[in-house]
Amino acid sequence: EVRVRFAPSPTGALHIGGVRTALYNYLFAKKMGGKFLLRIEDTDQNRFVPGAEEYIKESLEWLGITPEESPWNPGDCGPYRQSERKPMYMQYALDLVEKGHAYYAFDTAEELEAMRERLTAARVVQPQYNSITRTQMKNSLTLSAEEVKARLESGDPYVIRVKIPRNEEVRLNDMIRGWVMVNSGTLDDKVLMKSDGMPTYHLANIVDDHLMGITHVIRGEEWLPSAPLHVLLYKYFGWESTMPQFAHLPLLLKPDGNGKLSKRDGDKLGFPVFPLDWTDPFSGEKASGFREQGYLSDAFLNFLAFLGWNPGDDREIFSLPELVEAFSVERIGKSGTKFDIAKAKWYNEQYLKSKPTSELTGFLIADAKAEGVEVPADKAEAIVDLMKGRVTFPADLWKESKFLVTAPEKFDEDVAAKRWNADAVKVLGAYAAALDTFGGTFDAASAKSLLENTAETEGVKLGKVMQAVRLAVTGIGGGPDLMEVFAILGKEEVAKRIRFALS
Ligand code: GLU
Repeated sequence: EVRVRFAPSPTGALHIGGVRTALYNYLFAKKMGGKFLLRIEDTDQNRFVPGAEEYIKESLEWLGITPEESPWNPGDCGPYRQSERKPMYMQYALDLVEKGHAYYAFDTAEELEAMRERLTAARVVQPQYNSITRTQMKNSLTLSAEEVKARLESGDPYVIRVKIPRNEEVRLNDMIRGWVMVNSGTLDDKVLMKSDGMPTYHLANIVDDHLMGITHVIRGEEWLPSAPLHVLLYKYFGWESTMPQFAHLPLLLKPDGNGKLSKRDGDKLGFPVFPLDWTDPFSGEKASGFREQGYLSDAFLNFLAFLGWNPGDDREIFSLPELVEAFSVERIGKSGTKFDIAKAKWYNEQYLKSKPTSELTGFLIADAKAEGVEVPADKAEAIVDLMKGRVTFPADLWKESKFLVTAPEKFDEDVAAKRWNADAVKVLGAYAAALDTFGGTFDAASAKSLLENTAETEGVKLGKVMQAVRLAVTGIGGGPDLMEVFAILGKEEVAKRIRFALS
C-alpha cells in the first residue's frame, strides 16, 4: 500500500511551496489508492512558533486535502508529533553507534569554532566536520574507550554524529530527477542526536518514515542535498529493502524567474504567498493569505496543482477529483516554476463565473449590509448573474455593482468632460419621457429598442451618446451591459436617475 506523508516543521506559516508539497502528496496517495499522512516535525524547539500547527491544519482543511492520519486524527503509527516521540529515537542512534556508523562527539562550541577558523584560514571552501577533520576532534573515534566511558558517566554533554565514509559513491533514483550521484567525501558527519537529547531532523525523519511505513517521499527540492545522507542512513539501519522512493519537487521561482520565491516577494509585489492570513506571534508582522484576499479554495487548489505539474494537454480546469484522476509524478517538471499571480486570478475568475449564482449572492448581501445597504434576495441574484463573469473576487461583486442598488450622486468628471453633449441631453430627456408611458415588460431587449427608437426620433446616432447615457444612469464610465443594468433597475428608477442627471 502506498503511504506518503507531509512533514512540516511548525516554524512559521505554511508557505505556498509547502501547501503544494502537501497537495502533490495528497494527489499521489489518492491516485494510487494509498494513504496521506501528516507528521509534525517539531524537534527543533528553538524554532517552534506557537500557532503554526493550527495554521497548517486550518490551511489543509480549507483546501479539502485532509490527511487520513495526523496528530488530530491519529492512526496506528502515532504519536504524529516528533516531540511526543522523543523517547523512541535514542535507541536508533545507539544502534548506529554499535554498528560503527555513528559516534559520540564531545567537542565544545569553542572547539568547533576553532576548527572552522583553522579550515577557513587554510582556504577550505566549506569547512565541515567530516572524515578528515573528525580525526582532530574530541570524539569516540579519537578518544580512548576508557575516556569515552568516563565522559559519558560524568554527564559531559555530547552529540551523536553519523560516520560518513571517505570516498564512496552514493546513488539514488529520484522519481523526478532520475539518478542522482554524490561522492560521500562531499558530505559531513551530520549530528543525529543533539546534546539536549532531541534527535535532529535527519534522524527523526528517517526513523519515522520507516516506522510509519512511508513508501514515497515527495518533498521540495531544497531537501535534495540531504537525500544522500538519508540513503546512507537507510543502509546503516538495514532498512534498504523498504527505503521509500524519493521525488523532489521543482522550486517555485519569483515571478521574473530570478531565484526562489519568498515571503518578501509577496509583500513587495502585493500578492499573497500564504494560504491564510498570518500574524507572526513574535514580530507582530502580518502577511496576507489567499483565502482572505478572496481566492476560492477550489480555484486556488487548481492553480497550485499547475505549479510544477501539467496534464500533458491543454486542459486547465480541474476539480480535486479530476486532479487525482489526471495526476502523475512523471508529469512533474524538473525545472523551477515561475509564480504567476495573474494566473491565480484567472483561475479565480473562471471558478467564480461557473459557480451557481445562489452560492454567491450571500457575499453581495453581506458586503452591502456591512455598508448599511439592504439588497433583497431576488435583486442580489439578478446582480450576481450579471456580474459574476466580470469580477476576480467575491468582494468585487458588491464593490463593482453598488450603482445597481444606490443611485449615483456624483458623476465621473473625466467621462462627463468627454462624453456629455447636447445630443445626449436631448436623447436622455426624450427617453425618460418614453419610459413614463412605456407599457410592456421592461427587460434588456425592450429597454434597448425603446432607446434605439428614441434616438432615431431625435435624429441622433445612438453610438455617439451611449457613453453619456451610461454616465447619467450609473455615474461611471464602464460596467456590464447597460441594457441589463436597465432591466435590473426597472424603468421608474432609470427615468428617475436620468432626470436627476439632467437637473
Ligand atoms: N520537516 C521538513 C520540512 O519542514 C520535512 C522535509 C521532508 O519532507 O523530508 O520541510
